[in-house]
Amino acid sequence: MDKSTIITQMRQLIQLIAQHNHAYYVMDQPEIEDSEYDQLFHQLKGLEQQYPDCVQADSPISKVGGQALSKFETVTHTVPMLSLGNVFDETELYAFARRIEERLAQQQIQYDVELKFDGLAISLWYENGVLVRGVTRGDGETGELITQNVKTIRNLPKVLYADQQAVPELLEVRGEVLMPKAGFLRLNAEQQAKGEKVFANPRNAAAGSLRQLDPEVAASRPLAFYAYGIAQCVPHHGLETMSESLDWLTGFGFAIGEKHFVCDSIAAVQQIYLEINQQRPDLSVEIDGMVIKVNNLQQQKQLGFLSREPRWATAYKFPAIAALTTVEQIDWQVGRTGTITPVARLEPVAVGGVTVSNVTLHNIGEIHRLDVRIGDTVSVYRSGDVIPKVERVWTELRKPEQIYAPVQLPSHCPVCDSPVVMPEGEALARCSGGLYCSAQRIEAIRHFVSRKAMDIEGLGDRWVESLLHLNLLDSVADIYQLSEHREQMLQIDKMGEKSLQNLLDAIEQSKKTTLGSFIYALGIRGVGESTARMLANCFQSLDALKAADIDALKRTPDVGEITAEWIYDFFKAPHNIEILDRLIAAGIHWDAPLAPSRQPLNGQSWVITGTLSQMSRDDATQALQALGARVSGSVSSKTKCLVAGEKAGSKLEKAQKLAIDIMTEAEFIAFIASHNAGQ
Ligand code: NAD
Repeated sequence: MDKSTIITQMRQLIQLIAQHNHAYYVMDQPEIEDSEYDQLFHQLKGLEQQYPDCVQADSPISKVGGQALSKFETVTHTVPMLSLGNVFDETELYAFARRIEERLAQQQIQYDVELKFDGLAISLWYENGVLVRGVTRGDGETGELITQNVKTIRNLPKVLYADQQAVPELLEVRGEVLMPKAGFLRLNAEQQAKGEKVFANPRNAAAGSLRQLDPEVAASRPLAFYAYGIAQCVPHHGLETMSESLDWLTGFGFAIGEKHFVCDSIAAVQQIYLEINQQRPDLSVEIDGMVIKVNNLQQQKQLGFLSREPRWATAYKFPAIAALTTVEQIDWQVGRTGTITPVARLEPVAVGGVTVSNVTLHNIGEIHRLDVRIGDTVSVYRSGDVIPKVERVWTELRKPEQIYAPVQLPSHCPVCDSPVVMPEGEALARCSGGLYCSAQRIEAIRHFVSRKAMDIEGLGDRWVESLLHLNLLDSVADIYQLSEHREQMLQIDKMGEKSLQNLLDAIEQSKKTTLGSFIYALGIRGVGESTARMLANCFQSLDALKAADIDALKRTPDVGEITAEWIYDFFKAPHNIEILDRLIAAGIHWDAPLAPSRQPLNGQSWVITGTLSQMSRDDATQALQALGARVSGSVSSKTKCLVAGEKAGSKLEKAQKLAIDIMTEAEFIAFIASHNAGQ
């Protein structure tokens, strides 16, 4: 890369970081995830390390991010308040330890491991045991004087008193002000009730509350202070380690984190990090990682500082839920029903602890909305949801010399070259090739054999592809003719007598099914598992469903106008009827579903939440559906009953609020058993 390109990239990053520093530190209103900010910061740091002669004078890399607000009096810190370096994975953690071991060759090293509170750093001065000033970190050199507000924090000692230890003449304690999770939820509920601004997260709520000009408002906010270090102590306290100093601070009534550890090896640190990441939801405060410090204070002194961060400590952040990466390619995939879906191929990136290299872009409309183009930097996001999504395109980071062509919908199917159609008013484009398109055929077969459909274990992708190749699988009906082609099938690589027999047995077994599973297996557009079961319950037989008109179909719960039309069209297409006839002729059969008059939960909506220990969620759902109930994903006033397993969360709370019937797993099992016994 030439020098001017590097400088342009650096300037783009500096400008972005400055903009987000302002939003975060000054306005207390971040516009991006912390993990995304960290990545921008890392990108700039990487460029500076690689091209030191291009470093810009206003680079934020060696500065502490905050800035004093002019509305408060400013104070210069006697001992600068620095930031911390960051590590993000085990390799980086070990590299941090190696750097320390090299500098402290031949010495025993212990690590003090603390929670990394996600609040804001402050300094507290005590003169002869009396709190005389509280100051924010600001830019690390100067901060804002917020003594009046600090004094309103309830768990913070205003006067130091201890039985066992002498009160120093001067003590400067460093720590974090934050809003415990419970207080944060309460505050936001109150703010909402008053029609006032709600805070994005506890950190912003704490920062916003602490910098209130009116101490009475600050006093009304549920803030807490957690100490994590001593900046000055006169006369010297004489303590030897970080962990002892935390205990010593506790002796004066300071709160410290609810957990801290001393480890003899970096492997033990890693273990604790993993454990705490698991326990994170149960902690009373929000944390964004762990802080790893060399425990011995003398060794800390020996290691010293590197620009804005100590060499003897680092933050070890928890996995990002959002990360930046580059779009390398956009491919179009053809689904079972012919829908053409764009998929972004990404430079692999870790998000929420997993590596993401593909992400669906849903449809061409979404591509245009995001304005995503090949080569773009994008934010990939995973929250409670496991499916990653592209949240934002960083058009600000497009390189001026690079061409980013807008993405077009392909005119022809990438698999079979049939024209792509996109009916007016529809979001999805489709391949018009139907079963001529091998992608649609393969997807239809994959769906047909899947567990919740015909459940033919062993007919995996690899064999389906080989069978297609041998022209033995033109449609799903051919599955039941495979036993006539033993010789040909034995030619398939790795298909021995035994595996062939297993496969044929599984196919044979699948012939006994339920009407609901069979309807689902047909892969009718809009007919998912639960709709298929509803159709089975309502129509009772395949013949009745085949003969149903649109009005009759619409009367089925869950079936709207459009789905009704799709079902109707499916059963009117001659090639579908031919396939159905062949399947039935091959011997697929089922027991008649319970008649509606014998479905005691007919028309009721049930919700299952939490972890069930004695049965799977699928089984519980099927048991309810067989009794006529609809199983929904969310609680509303229309919910008849909530089945609450272990660790049930917000759905249980909502059901309690709405006074909806609630059953434990044991009650549910007894309930189902009593109904089944009565039949
Ligand atoms: P930092 O928050 O990554 O780490 C340093 C801070 O950790 C210290 O100042 C201290 O306040 C705190 N800390 C918490 N627990 C501690 C403990 N037990 N011992 C010692 N220190 C402890 O660094 P920073 O400079 O305060 O802030 C930078 C971070 O802020 C970024 O990494 C990013 O996550 C976030 N940020 C986000 C945006 C955004 O737009 N989303 C913008 C700017 C900064």
